[in-house]
Amino acid sequence: MTLDAPTLVIVTVFVMVVMGALYLLSWSQARRTLALGFLGAAQLLGAVAVILFGLRGLIPDWLSIGLANAVMLTASGLIWGGARSFEGRRVPYLWIAAGPLAWLAACLVPPFYASLGARVILCSAIAGLSCALAARTLWHNRGERLPSRAPAAILLASEALLIWARIPATLVLPAPPTGMPGQTLWVAILCFVALLYTVAVSVLFMALAKERLEAEQRRAAETDPLTGIANRRALAAEAQRILAAGPAALLLFDLDHFKRVNDTFGHAAGDAVLVGFCALARQILPAGTAFGRLGGEEFACLLPGAGAAEAASVAETVRVAVSAMRPDLLPGLAVTVSIGVARRAGGPGTGDFESLLGLADRALYQAKAQGRDRVVLAGPGLRQVA
Ligand code: GH3
Ligand code: MG
Ligand code: MG
Repeated sequence: MTLDAPTLVIVTVFVMVVMGALYLLSWSQARRTLALGFLGAAQLLGAVAVILFGLRGLIPDWLSIGLANAVMLTASGLIWGGARSFEGRRVPYLWIAAGPLAWLAACLVPPFYASLGARVILCSAIAGLSCALAARTLWHNRGERLPSRAPAAILLASEALLIWARIPATLVLPAPPTGMPGQTLWVAILCFVALLYTVAVSVLFMALAKERLEAEQRRAAETDPLTGIANRRALAAEAQRILAAGPAALLLFDLDHFKRVNDTFGHAAGDAVLVGFCALARQILPAGTAFGRLGGEEFACLLPGAGAAEAASVAETVRVAVSAMRPDLLPGLAVTVSIGVARRAGGPGTGDFESLLGLADRALYQAKAQGRDRVVLAGPGLRQVA
């Protein structure tokens, strides 16, 4: 099998242009993901560089060597810029421009320009550095778990190593023959590697952008926009998991006379109270508690493994803390909360989240009927705490 250089050049250019166009299309649909724009521009510049490389011998050398490598180095710098932008970090435009500018400046020095080895070493050093920095940027942000992150970082790191490997190869191995067919073989190999990396890096970056969007949408679908805690659906799902694992206690909170808070201080103040209540409850509730907003001024939490006494004690701590809440900006505003507590012994078939919620709701109703600002335990004879 022989690698046909002209065919590979045409295929590589075609693939890079298609990938670049797809990136720019994705960017036009998701403008805030600027990284897609960087990567689209990198692909298109890569295609220009491959065309210039491919025309070696047919166009002046300053185009097929000088300009071609400057364009290629700009493209690899833009991949680094794209990775930085994707991770929400500052894009180092000056450093991205420094690579091709250093190359062009070096080309103005005749002994450098005349030496193939020197040219390969400088170009490889800069292009490899861009890939290595892009890999490092993706790896740096690995706290955000995306399935394609590690493969993309590994791919870019391997590309950097492969590019850098040309440096010792240039120093050790004899220079490839300048005439046909050795040089065309070299162009074919470079095109082949560029093609593989272009496709793999493009697919992985597209996947990363999609995975991040999906994670954001999943989070939004599970979060209450006002308070930032779990919404009813997410809480129910988490509660179901906790209940399947063993005994648990449910605390059902309802702010007292909340309509009055809205009527007296305004809806915005009501919102601030809801947010303040959540912040306070989160501080008090033990780690591992599932806490969420059921709707309006009703909240619930599930304490895994908690006995009746522990659940009542946590509820009472929240109640006391809420009654002591005094927002600085709203003097005269006093908030209280009523809490219904229900416990489930655990084990399969002993009731689901909704049935436990029903029990807690009855206890809460009792707390309201008895005058509010209190905790009532569900069970035979509904018991008030403290
Ligand atoms: P009770 O002590 O019996 O619970 O009385 P309440 O006034 O708290 O109960 P009610 O259910 O009559 O009123 C709940 C109020 O909560 C009515 C509604 O306007 C208000 N509310 C629901 N969601 C929000 C919200 O997101 N923001 C604000 N500010 N108010 C809300
Ligand atoms: Mg209510
Ligand atoms: Mg209420």
